[in-house]
Amino acid sequence: MKLLLTRELGRLARWLRIMGFDSEYTRQNNNASVLMQALREDRTILTRNHHLPASRGIKILVLEQETIKEQLGETLRLLRIDPGQERMFTRCTICNKELTAVAKESVKDKVPEYVFSTQEDFYSCGTCGRIYWHGTHWGNVRQLLDSIKE
Ligand SMILES: [Zn+2]
Repeated sequence: MKLLLTRELGRLARWLRIMGFDSEYTRQNNNASVLMQALREDRTILTRNHHLPASRGIKILVLEQETIKEQLGETLRLLRIDPGQERMFTRCTICNKELTAVAKESVKDKVPEYVFSTQEDFYSCGTCGRIYWHGTHWGNVRQLLDSIKE
C-alpha cells in the first residue's frame, strides 16, 4: 500500500516511514496537483483537508485527530494495518526510500564514536546518504506504538 500525505501531516509521514510504509509527503497547496500525484503514483491520500474533492479511482482518507499519537492510531485503524516489527526501520525518514544494510566498517567515519562502538547493524539511504542504526535516529517508536495499542 502506497500513501500520499498532504502538507499538514509531515510528522505523521515520518512516523509512517519509520514503520516501513511507503509514505510520500507533499507540500503542494493545489488540490488538483495532489490528486494528480496520487493518481500517477497509485497512492491513497491521507489528509486533514476536508475540501479535497472525491475523485474517481482515488482513495482519500480524512483524519480527524489532532495529535501525532492519535493520528497514527487513526491511520492504522482506517487502513487496517498492523505495524509489524519486520517492516519497521526499513525506510529513510527523510526521503521515503528503502534502506540498505551496510558493513559496519564502512560507516566508521560517518557516525559518532560511541555509536560505532555500541551498535552492530547499520543501514544507509541510497538517496541522501544518511546512516541509520537502531538508536537515536528512530527515537522511541516502539514506546509510541505500544502506547497506541493500549
Ligand atoms: Zn534518505
